Amino acid sequence: MSETKPRDYTKEPEFVKKIVDSLHPERMYLKVKEIIKETPSTKTFRMVPTKGKLPPFRAGQYVNLFVTIDGVLTSRPYSISSIPTQTEYIDLTVRRKEGGFVSNYLLDKVKVGDEFETTGPAGTFYYEPLTDGKELVFLAGGSGITPFMSIIHEVVDKKLDLNIWLIYGSRIPEDIIFYKKLEEICNKNDNINFAVVISEPPEGYDGICGFLEKEIILSQIGTADGKTFYMCGPEAMYTFCDAELASLNLPRRRFKREAYGPPDDVTQEPGWPSGISADTEFTVEVIGKKTFKARAGEPLMNSLEREGIVIPAICRSGVCTTCRTKLVLGKVFMPESVTLLEADRKFGYIHPCMAYPIENIKIRI
Ligand SMILES: Cc1cc2nc3c(=O)[nH]c(=O)nc-3n(C[C@H](O)[C@H](O)[C@H](O)COP(=O)(O)OP(=O)(O)OC[C@H]3O[C@@H](n4cnc5c(N)ncnc54)[C@H](O)[C@@H]3O)c2cc1C
Repeated sequence: MSETKPRDYTKEPEFVKKIVDSLHPERMYLKVKEIIKETPSTKTFRMVPTKGKLPPFRAGQYVNLFVTIDGVLTSRPYSISSIPTQTEYIDLTVRRKEGGFVSNYLLDKVKVGDEFETTGPAGTFYYEPLTDGKELVFLAGGSGITPFMSIIHEVVDKKLDLNIWLIYGSRIPEDIIFYKKLEEICNKNDNINFAVVISEPPEGYDGICGFLEKEIILSQIGTADGKTFYMCGPEAMYTFCDAELASLNLPRRRFKREAYGPPDDVTQEPGWPSGISADTEFTVEVIGKKTFKARAGEPLMNSLEREGIVIPAICRSGVCTTCRTKLVLGKVFMPESVTLLEADRKFGYIHPCMAYPIENIKIRI
């Protein structure tokens, strides 16, 4: 009988690279196939690949979308709001941010047929059966609903044995993204529960009003015991919910949160040095490249991009470490949420996506 030899992949590096690249591409090349108006301030961009096939992703992951606006090459991460089992397109659902650079561009200028580059799917904000249990509480704020939409769709589509309580905070009812779809899913599936909490209710509004307070959350979920909490939304929501849920004394591993980008006003972050305003300017020297002035209140990465210097980035939230850069001289401020390795701290590496100059600085890229 002839013996089949195991295939020696070490002798086929090109074949292996082709497989790995198709599963974890560094870049995806996409075209807008359809634009769906979700609310007055939100649109979904349905993207299809212009090269090859879309890679697999896990519900809850995001891509970093590159755009060139007024000659500035920059990027912003957007969670994939579509379901992973559908492989023809991905949906990115973007909400307008007042004064925002990229969101306003996407909502006002982008049309069907426009092409974009993104990173491959990234992030760890997904359901992990080994650690997360079967009872999940999703706390969403504003556009933070997007990863949950993908996860909920997948749970329903695959008939996963999970119980979900989605509690969605919104300023006004008109801003609730995917309201009809969520209501429909909730009506058809006993394991999906959905409640909206409105912070600025209009006259006569008879739904739940307020913020995502402990009492409101408990009124929906009964008990927090044995449940895993996922949070996605603006930073202010995390600070609020952390304080609200602290008295429940749940273990840290029962909380998962998605990064959501730089704070709106970094000068309000704990530890920001007194006497430095957001508009204070410092000199940034990029060794061998350029010297320019940068505002203390703007992430260094944005100031660099404005000067035509682009550092590889994925999360733009101080988490993924892709933009790690050597700080040779001077000081930057990094909010507490930035996950810096001890070695980075010791040897002077920073994450420019969430680093703010608070002295004249010198960096090496
Ligand atoms: C993991 C993750 C997932 C996310 N998912 C979603 C999602 O599903 N939906 C969603 O809506 N949002 C999502 N976000 C938030 C999103 O990435 C953006 O932060 C959001 O769209 C706001 O971006 P913006 O450019 O409009 O606003 P900002 O980033 O606040 O833009 C203003 C900033 O742009 C810079 N800027 C302004 N003008 C210029 C210029 N001329 N040149 C260079 N820089 C300039 C300045 O630094 C200014 O502070 C997600 C964020 C993360 C981290």
